[in-house]
Amino acid sequence: MFKSLIVGNWKMHGTAETAVKLATQLAEDWNADTVDSAVEMIVFPPFVHMSAVAAAVAKSAISIGAQNVSEYSAGAYTGETSAEMLVDQGCKYALVGHSERRAMQNESSEIVAEKFVAAQNAGLIPILCVGETLQQRQDNQTVEVVSGQIAAVIERAGLQNVCRAAIAYEPVWAVGTGETASPEQAQQVHSAIRAQLGEAGISTPLLYGGSVKAANAAELFAQPDINGGLVGGASLEAVEFLNIAKLIEA
Ligand code: PEP
Repeated sequence: MFKSLIVGNWKMHGTAETAVKLATQLAEDWNADTVDSAVEMIVFPPFVHMSAVAAAVAKSAISIGAQNVSEYSAGAYTGETSAEMLVDQGCKYALVGHSERRAMQNESSEIVAEKFVAAQNAGLIPILCVGETLQQRQDNQTVEVVSGQIAAVIERAGLQNVCRAAIAYEPVWAVGTGETASPEQAQQVHSAIRAQLGEAGISTPLLYGGSVKAANAAELFAQPDINGGLVGGASLEAVEFLNIAKLIEA
């Protein structure tokens, strides 16, 4: 069955208490009795809050994801977390290639591809984040940059495996800035991604991320190749995030 996804990336915010409170508020609303099972909600708490959040959403329809995953399976990698450890904590998804990590942790497309493969090999579903900087957009390089980021993962993981994941188009200039791509700008990139994946990617969920809020989500989600959203700031407020989620057309 084709799935639409609504993803809440909590980044490095909150305490165990606020994380559980937010998860509990979401879980009360988002359960099998109340939601369309074709739309899956996934929250990405900080690692240290993961098991508490997993317990808080256990009886709901909400899944858990990891904001990052090591490209290595085990060993002397101080501070890292393997895909197997994340599965063990109840994770189903992992973000790979978030623009904050590409920029601040110098993650290259090759490292992102290794993380993608490590996640998938352990049974996690990767959500591959791609997007251009403002300069690249102004230089008319948007589609070239995004398709290059995806091609690096296809080269390492294979097209069929990339199509079994989800892809989030997140223009770097829109992440955490309050700026949002127009629905037309987003659809143009999503349609280029769909074309790049070809027949194999007909059911691959393509998410949009970048300052999504309830006030701008409906128009974005109405685009033919946008199958949900990756939401940062607005996912920290339960009512706002639930309002965004309910605007997704399954
Ligand atoms: C994100 O964290 O991927 C994101 C899109 O953040 P924000 O919604 O705050 O722009």
